[in-house]
Amino acid sequence: MELITSYALQEFKEKIQSVGLEPYRASQVMNWIYQRLETDFHKMTNLSKAHRDILSKSFRAHTLELADKVSASDSIKYLFRTEDGHFIETVLIFERDHLTLCLSSQIGCAINCRFCATARDGLVRNLSTPEIIDQYLLVQRDLSQRIRNVVFMGMGEPLANYEAVRKAVEIMISPWGINLSKRRVSISTSGLIAQIRRMAQDPLMKELNLAVSINAPSQYLREYFMPISKTNPLEELIETLGMFPYPPDRRIMLEYVLIKDINDRERDAHSLAQLVKPYRKKFKINLIPYNPDPSLPFERPDLQRVYAFQDILRSYNLSVFVRLSKGIEVFGACGQLRSKRKYFLEAVHDSPNNI
Ligand code: SAH
Repeated sequence: MELITSYALQEFKEKIQSVGLEPYRASQVMNWIYQRLETDFHKMTNLSKAHRDILSKSFRAHTLELADKVSASDSIKYLFRTEDGHFIETVLIFERDHLTLCLSSQIGCAINCRFCATARDGLVRNLSTPEIIDQYLLVQRDLSQRIRNVVFMGMGEPLANYEAVRKAVEIMISPWGINLSKRRVSISTSGLIAQIRRMAQDPLMKELNLAVSINAPSQYLREYFMPISKTNPLEELIETLGMFPYPPDRRIMLEYVLIKDINDRERDAHSLAQLVKPYRKKFKINLIPYNPDPSLPFERPDLQRVYAFQDILRSYNLSVFVRLSKGIEVFGACGQLRSKRKYFLEAVHDSPNNI
């Protein structure tokens, strides 16, 4: 049985024809799945019984299984099991007036950032398009309010899984699919220069929000934190971003995780400002105080220090925001949920507000 969530509309028209239905039925089925969130073909009432039977014998919509979920005041963390028995995490974040869904793009990650919990197991494998889309479907099905923003900031490096992520994005932003605004889908990358250039030339991908994890103000420190900097040098990365074909009013988000006594010093703020100053109008900077992980030797700086860092950057007329990591307060930063599965399961059973 084939997964319907792997198709764009045109492909699904062909598939549906090959099992004997008229091509226009494809839009009807996709409307059920992505707009009405009905994935049971038997309940698609504008189709004949015979067609519903054919569809349910030929296709299916879900591939993930909910393993657990925990709700906190500002977020819900979902743990999903893949068909081959791996776990991935998805976090729903309650913003002031909307919902944001943080998706995973890989099982594990090959990038090996020193401070990141997902790095520990290395890369297990890429997620498929259906596994990405199903994170959305299973969470959205659970909610009365529509998810408005999607960010690829969960486990994995989305640009290292370009094709599957691209197809998922196509389903997300197409009117026949989930129909999210292009401006409300963000790709966060560790800074793979070749893939950013590819994105810049890709009519679908270049319209999304691009976020880049900078995390260090110098090549030296960045190489220590993020070994991919050796082959993706910081200055070249910033230049590549400086050339990214956004209209003048759009900005690339630079993410900078602040780690106590390592990259949060005053001089780090000055170096970072010098580095990005030539493209000042092209960027906004998000400062993210580090979310400590018991297995890693890094700490979160005091908030005072975080705001001092912000003030220095602002003195260079940069636009800088402090992002108090919602949804990751309890366990969520990038891979921490999955790696603490045991803790997660205990929390589910202990938590008075688990659902
Ligand atoms: N691979 C992509 C997306 C996943 S990581 C990327 O690197 O952008 C998403 C963000 O979480 C990155 O900015 C990363 O630097 C940050 N991050 C990872 N571990 C963290 C932690 N323990 N505390 C705070 N931010 C963290």
